[in-house]
Amino acid sequence: MIDTKETVTPVIGLEIHVELATATKLFCRCRNRFGDPPNTNVCPICIGMPGVLPVMNRKAVEYSMKVALALGCQVAAFTKWDRKNYYYPDLPKNYQISQYDLPLSSNGYLEVPLADGSAKKVRILRAHLEEDAGKNVHDKPGFTGVDLNRVGVPLLEVVSEPDMNSVEEVMGYARAMQRLVRWLGASEANMQMGHMRFEPNINLHIARGGVTYKTPIVEVKNLNSFRALERTVEYEIARQYAQWEADPDGYSMGKLQKQNRGYDDATQQTVFQRAKEEAHDYRYFPEPDLHPVVVDDEWRDEVAATIGELPLARRARYMETYELSFKHADALTQDAPTGDLLDEAVKGGAEPKRCVNLLLGRAAALANERNCTIAQIGITAGGLAELTKMLSAGDVNATASGKILEKMIAADDSPRQIAQAQGLLVVRDAGQIEVWVDEAIAANPQAAQDARAGGKKQKRAFGFLMGQVMQKSKGAADPARVKQLLQQKLGP
Ligand SMILES: [Zn+2]
Repeated sequence: MIDTKETVTPVIGLEIHVELATATKLFCRCRNRFGDPPNTNVCPICIGMPGVLPVMNRKAVEYSMKVALALGCQVAAFTKWDRKNYYYPDLPKNYQISQYDLPLSSNGYLEVPLADGSAKKVRILRAHLEEDAGKNVHDKPGFTGVDLNRVGVPLLEVVSEPDMNSVEEVMGYARAMQRLVRWLGASEANMQMGHMRFEPNINLHIARGGVTYKTPIVEVKNLNSFRALERTVEYEIARQYAQWEADPDGYSMGKLQKQNRGYDDATQQTVFQRAKEEAHDYRYFPEPDLHPVVVDDEWRDEVAATIGELPLARRARYMETYELSFKHADALTQDAPTGDLLDEAVKGGAEPKRCVNLLLGRAAALANERNCTIAQIGITAGGLAELTKMLSAGDVNATASGKILEKMIAADDSPRQIAQAQGLLVVRDAGQIEVWVDEAIAANPQAAQDARAGGKKQKRAFGFLMGQVMQKSKGAADPARVKQLLQQKLGP
């Protein structure tokens, strides 16, 4: 139990490694693609053969600048590349090209939305570019394979200040970063494909009896899912507290080194790996084969101009202009194209709230089935606007609109053409509706009698007959007209 007279403040920073969505790798023309057969996207440059020269991928720098600018970072006018030396089987060159003392960008922040509606600014210390390493593959008993397809894939490393004080803030920050890099098109940020990896550093500041204790900082390496991140932070907070409580003076930052721990998915615990290495262990030195990167104002402004409205600003606009709830506005700003679809449909005359209902109803369900975003299911803003207008005019009902939307994905026909072809337009023809009403009454004499008799059974019988008529019309009859006719025929 935590003593009520003390306060325990988790202090957490997060490094996020984001693989950029470039077509090719950072310093060679090999394809940057997940899932290809092992060691098929490799060349002498990325596997470090002697005598080859790397050439920088301009697009990777632009994506990095775009993210940095969206984070409010300063983009350095001059940056260079460094070699970070270490030996590991997935790194055949024995060094990684990275940016050490002159990162591409620094000093920004990310606004993290919290559950209570407030937001927290988490400061960004720096964001720099480096090349990814390969992957050890443990799929054959007794052997470890090495897949070098990932070697040299551009990796943006975004380092936060230790500004987060709870699991909620860490998760909010990680998700906000995922949304941002996707939004900017800088990364697909697909966790299953390893596009995003987390390395939190965690310690506790514990105030008890007028003394503040600090537990040693722990860095947990290479977490590749949100779940692993959440469990790790929860586990470390509890573990560090228990260890501190057992020895408040011994288990402290001054007496013990920083340490690296790894997360074990099976036990959902972290395990000690080693005392944390420091920069000098890597013998950084400037990469002699690459030119420094010079970013002039013109290039920076050109990239800045491609950023556009950011997700939180758009969410606020939706709540303000379209009067959407936070939940709806948030759901529609998970990616930029889905919101673009809404904006264009509204420009085309669609009523915002009805349009949102369509998008977050049937369209979201279809996207979910297909494991894609709403925009990716393949409806056009024009079609969406037309369908929304048909709903507003009462030409189709909500059920029919869902069916039409589904057909719009497969066919080039307009919503109206689909509605006509499928018999989904609302039938307002009184003569036709009267035929259905008469048929329903004739086929269900008991219900008709109950409805006429009044009393307890009346309401239920009336509802049943309504349902029968709607069924006969395959949902197309105008419900108001059906109700009116039934009342006339069954009324007192
Ligand atoms: Zn290559």
